[in-house]
Amino acid sequence: METAARTAPAAVIVAIDGPAGTGKSSTSKAVAAKLGLGYLDTGAQYRALTWWMVTNGIDVNDAVAVADAAAKPTIVSGTDPAAPTITVDGTDVSGPIRSQEVTSQVSAVSAVPEVRAVITELQRTIAAEAPRGIVVEGRDIGTTVLPDADLKVFLTASPEVRAARRSGELKGKEATDLAATQAALAKRDALDSGRKTSPLAKADDAVEVDTSDLTLDQVIECVVTLVEEKRTAA
Ligand code: C5P
Repeated sequence: METAARTAPAAVIVAIDGPAGTGKSSTSKAVAAKLGLGYLDTGAQYRALTWWMVTNGIDVNDAVAVADAAAKPTIVSGTDPAAPTITVDGTDVSGPIRSQEVTSQVSAVSAVPEVRAVITELQRTIAAEAPRGIVVEGRDIGTTVLPDADLKVFLTASPEVRAARRSGELKGKEATDLAATQAALAKRDALDSGRKTSPLAKADDAVEVDTSDLTLDQVIECVVTLVEEKRTAA
């Protein structure tokens, strides 16, 4: 028993932050799968709450109404990186939370302090309960949610590259032209970076990785190496 406890690697917490279109989700999922860790998409949680607000007729620009309703729905995130799930009051919302309707309103909801308090507590509980550790991706994970994370990574990319990647994801009827996608990303960045409560920001001790000229595999390799270095040093 004692030997097993000594040889099992300690749980590791990895925080991956950055704006949309930098490869956060693909990188985080792959790193978690490679290292046998859990995976948490915190953007999906804010999107799920936004979906619930919109579905229940709450005006997302009415911060008092949003604050009053923040704790009402039950949001559950499944943390298997091979098949992450998200439900609201038992309903699978993984599809609807990616709609343009939700994407265009999520920044207003996520700026409300009461929303952040509810979701942050949920995120900390999930991270604390991950048996082997977890990769948590978002905007404020390294600065606010998990300031003691073992490794903090901040992903960036040029606005052009980010827009091109996002356009590639938005196949089908919701796809817009590149300029419109770039403008929508810039607007969301400004709202997420400019809000008062835990804005999108790089933690002082985060490793910044510019992914503009890197393939996804190169970014994954880079983050896996950073985690392994931390584990060796520990
Ligand atoms: O990562 P994703 O683009 O799905 O995030 C959707 C939105 O959720 C962001 O634009 C931001 O408003 C909010 N968010 C946040 N804090 C996080 C993760 C996401 O405010 N940790």
